Amino acid sequence: MTSLQVSVIFVVYDILQGDSLKMAVRTILTYPDTILRQRAEPVTNIDGKLQELIDGMAETMYDAPGVGLAGNQVGEPCRIIVYDTSGLDLQDDLVVVINPEIIEAEGEVLNEEACLSVIDYCADVKRAEKVTVQGLDREGNPITLEKEGLAAIVLQHEIDHLNGVLFIDHITKLKRELYKRKLKKLLKEWESSQSL
Ligand code: ZN
Repeated sequence: MTSLQVSVIFVVYDILQGDSLKMAVRTILTYPDTILRQRAEPVTNIDGKLQELIDGMAETMYDAPGVGLAGNQVGEPCRIIVYDTSGLDLQDDLVVVINPEIIEAEGEVLNEEACLSVIDYCADVKRAEKVTVQGLDREGNPITLEKEGLAAIVLQHEIDHLNGVLFIDHITKLKRELYKRKLKKLLKEWESSQSL
């Protein structure tokens, strides 16, 4: 079979699937999956496999759609985050940070957050207003990001993921308990709809 024939088969397959760019979309783990609670390991090898994982994470994030994603969320507890705050229609401002670390934080903001790994819930979370983050880009070059606004919030949210922390850990215990109850109910409803 020629490579052209193979490409045609893939295009037909994509059309049948109803989406042309979903080949590398990964499953997003959701609370209370224990991988979300693991502290992700630093990345030491920047190789082709890692580039594949980064591409898969970006595709998964855009497909969801979401503005940020951390390694743990796709079952890979390694210190990688991707985000894009340019607006979901543009998808042209992807930021990849390997081994990100917040080295400076100032100010305080309260913002409503949600998470692809926390089903059907959002809550106000207090975060630093501005952060400076150091890490590596996808080629392994050192980078420093100084961000405020949405990007600063996303960076803090995603770096939390790498430390096994979810945004619901920042809300009151009472609110968290209410969410757990709501989730239990949602899962029960989902299960009973599956058995019909
Ligand atoms: Zn999240």
